[in-house]
Amino acid sequence: MDTKTVEVKEFLAQFDANAVIAQPGSKIKLKNFDPGYTAGLKKADVEGALQIGIDRLAYYQDILYAQNTYALLIVLQAMDAAGKDGVIKHVMSGLNPQGCQVFSFKAPSAEELDHDYLWRSFKALPERGRIGIFNRSYYEEVLVVRVHPEILEKQQLPPEAKGKKIWQQRFEEINNFEKYLVDNGILVLKFFLNVSKDEQKRRFLDRIDQPEKNWKFSTADAKERLLWDDYMYAYEDLFTHTSTEWAPWHIIPADRKWFSRLTVAYFIHEKLKSLNLAYPTVSDAHREELLKVKAMLESES
Ligand code: ATP
Ligand code: MG
Repeated sequence: MDTKTVEVKEFLAQFDANAVIAQPGSKIKLKNFDPGYTAGLKKADVEGALQIGIDRLAYYQDILYAQNTYALLIVLQAMDAAGKDGVIKHVMSGLNPQGCQVFSFKAPSAEELDHDYLWRSFKALPERGRIGIFNRSYYEEVLVVRVHPEILEKQQLPPEAKGKKIWQQRFEEINNFEKYLVDNGILVLKFFLNVSKDEQKRRFLDRIDQPEKNWKFSTADAKERLLWDDYMYAYEDLFTHTSTEWAPWHIIPADRKWFSRLTVAYFIHEKLKSLNLAYPTVSDAHREELLKVKAMLESES
């Protein structure tokens, strides 16, 4: 391990986490969260740090899996081109595939629309011992659905559920849902990749200019960009109402991809570390059995 990496780890360990956590109970304004923030670091300073972080994640994941008691649900939300896919790819790259899963939530199917809005999320929750990532999530229900009221019309809701207070009601339902999960050992970590409007434009242009990136761009993305302010309003309101003690929002600076990957890995690491995970211990009887088998194996000719 080189000294630069140690410095980065030490720095991150004491970097002001409060600068990226949406404080529960306070009114959140995105102007207070700088998408370009890098904690005074440069990319060259952190070469290798992400890999070390990922190795540590793999270490904890192994115990999480063996212990089979807790699960970790990671919720990822962002505007287009903020880097969700890259975060997933990098953070998960060192993990054991048996112990993790990713679900990408798109516009709901006809079957999903026939159910309440959390139904598909319940079905996709990680089992105990696993890390599950929601690439977009039930938060779309207070984002895209809020920005496009016509989507709400398709939801087959009874008229009394579609009143003025629907967003406040959904915030409460989501808070209760997450509290229920956390109380039952399914921990919830929520990340918003906070990309600036300028940086999104640069990345869109890049996707148009580079043929191998064309597939990543759709004209629908450009249309949603026109509604940027509406989305930011919906995000601020949901951060204000759903950043809770049991599942606070992390507003991750995302104009520098290397920094967002490092900070997401850091918070996952801290969460797993805080669980004081331990490999299951075996009973004395089981241990005796193991020793008998050992003796048998060793006596084989
Ligand atoms: P990428 O573009 O990187 O592949 P993505 O997450 O943007 O990733 P898309 O297939 O482009 O994936 O978009 C998914 C779309 O589904 C988004 O526009 C999102 O708002 C929409 N969506 C997700 N959940 C819901 C929902 N509950 N109701 C309506 N639309 C939803
Ligand atoms: Mg998209």
